[in-house]
Amino acid sequence: MKNKRLLNEFKMQLPSNSVNEGFCRKVFSAFVSILDPTVSELADIRTAVSEAVTNCIVHAYKEKGGTIYISGKYYSDKTVEIKIKDKGCGIEDIEQAMKPLYTTDTTGERGGMGFAIMDSFTDRLKINSNVGKGTTVTMIKNLK
Ligand code: ATP
Ligand code: MG
Repeated sequence: MKNKRLLNEFKMQLPSNSVNEGFCRKVFSAFVSILDPTVSELADIRTAVSEAVTNCIVHAYKEKGGTIYISGKYYSDKTVEIKIKDKGCGIEDIEQAMKPLYTTDTTGERGGMGFAIMDSFTDRLKINSNVGKGTTVTMIKNLK
């Protein structure tokens, strides 16, 4: 789209503590609220953020803990960009990790649906990852 202008952005970083999953969801809700999202658009963003942040907590840093780096942007065409980054273990095979039902979890608690949900609830999902260095998940949501 031509003349797409960045209207607002924020950055934050926080420890990979499970209480911060809800906090990140609320931050994004507040951030996009001025764009007047529909209930379903807001639910999509909240769910996608939760999935990405949970992955940082349970997979990237496992029990050890680490820092989650978050950024949000929105543009004049009502495009919202969500970036969730960790410096954790990284993903060896991204294509495989994105497959529905694929999980490395052995506790039986995870369903392997996080990336599939992020993919279907947003308009674009991009994953960059390096083993031992970390993972960056970028999602784009186009609001109506
Ligand atoms: P669910 O999200 O349904 O609870 P899950 O987390 O295993 O289960 P996905 O979110 O789709 O499923 O992730 C698939 C796999 O990709 C994970 O099992 C894990 O091996 C890997 N993975 C995802 N995010 C990260 C991350 N930030 N760092 C390292 N590995 C990750
Ligand atoms: Mg997950």
